Amino acid sequence: MYNATTLSSFATSLFYEDENPAHLYDTIDFSSLSWLEKQWAAWYIFVGNPVLATGLMSFILHELVYFGRCVPWMIIDSMPYFRQWKLQPNKIPTAAQQWECTKLVLLTHFTVELPQIFLFHPLAVAFGMQTFQVPFPDLKTMALQVALFFIIEDAWHYVAHQALHYGPLYRRIHKLHHKYSAPFGLAAEYAHPLEILILGMGTVGGPLLYCYLTGSLHIVTMYTWIVLRLWQAVDAHSGYDFPWSLHNIFPLWSGAEHHDFHHMAFTNNYSTSFRYLDFIFGTDNKYRAYRKRIAEEKAKARAAVKHELSKAESDAIEAKLMAEAETEEREWSSSTYAHLTL
Ligand SMILES: [Zn+2]
Ligand SMILES: [Zn+2]
Repeated sequence: MYNATTLSSFATSLFYEDENPAHLYDTIDFSSLSWLEKQWAAWYIFVGNPVLATGLMSFILHELVYFGRCVPWMIIDSMPYFRQWKLQPNKIPTAAQQWECTKLVLLTHFTVELPQIFLFHPLAVAFGMQTFQVPFPDLKTMALQVALFFIIEDAWHYVAHQALHYGPLYRRIHKLHHKYSAPFGLAAEYAHPLEILILGMGTVGGPLLYCYLTGSLHIVTMYTWIVLRLWQAVDAHSGYDFPWSLHNIFPLWSGAEHHDFHHMAFTNNYSTSFRYLDFIFGTDNKYRAYRKRIAEEKAKARAAVKHELSKAESDAIEAKLMAEAETEEREWSSSTYAHLTL
């Protein structure tokens, strides 16, 4: 029963075209709408085809948010002043690296993500999601739904990301994302098309499942979620940990400080937004041991010189342990995967 309905609404929405798209809003009193809701309706009326309207809006939004969020990180990377907060200060991305990364990201956006984005509207409608409809849900409903999507995506990513670290999958798929051992914002979506598909299921699957179970979700909530998720992904790859970074205020948040270690050491810290799953299942053991050693070495050095460490002394300790962690992992990764001929 559900399958038949799903399929027919999928087909209807895929080929949907209304001769007069203003009819979509026949029963709506426009004077009661907010400015944003009026623009939303105007966009759907202007484009005239809800599939195209949603697809275009989704793709443009994705590009603007992703690259828009990367620009401040590119500026920060070009300013030596900010090196004091760089997690791996000896590795600053060059312009050539950033351009190479941008080219692959753009290629996957147009060849992998664009078709998926255009298929999203029919899929969303089939699952009962509201798209062109106004008014929007209230802010409290949206906030609770977005929080839930963060939790679902984090859990999916935690499991799928570990699976991608299994030898054959790592070599064939995930190794590409690990090209940069000191990541930068643009590298967030530098990944194999299959990885984009597998990990993207956590971003899209949660809302679709929620919509299927509750029958109540507006695509504007989905957009809010995706914008925040894109910011989270770019920031986690930024390579900077500021005193005002979110994890210093909200300790469950992962942030760059957590994910940068994953890129540096090729292991541990598999989740995206939060730290609790890695903590509960012990997949942050090396990360915590590393942080503990840094704290101990600094305490020892402080005791030896009998004063607070200068920035240079403190950096030297971190650089020494960082180099050790990287060498250890290079050896581990070459011995683990050496026997695999793929
Ligand atoms: Zn990984
Ligand atoms: Zn990453």
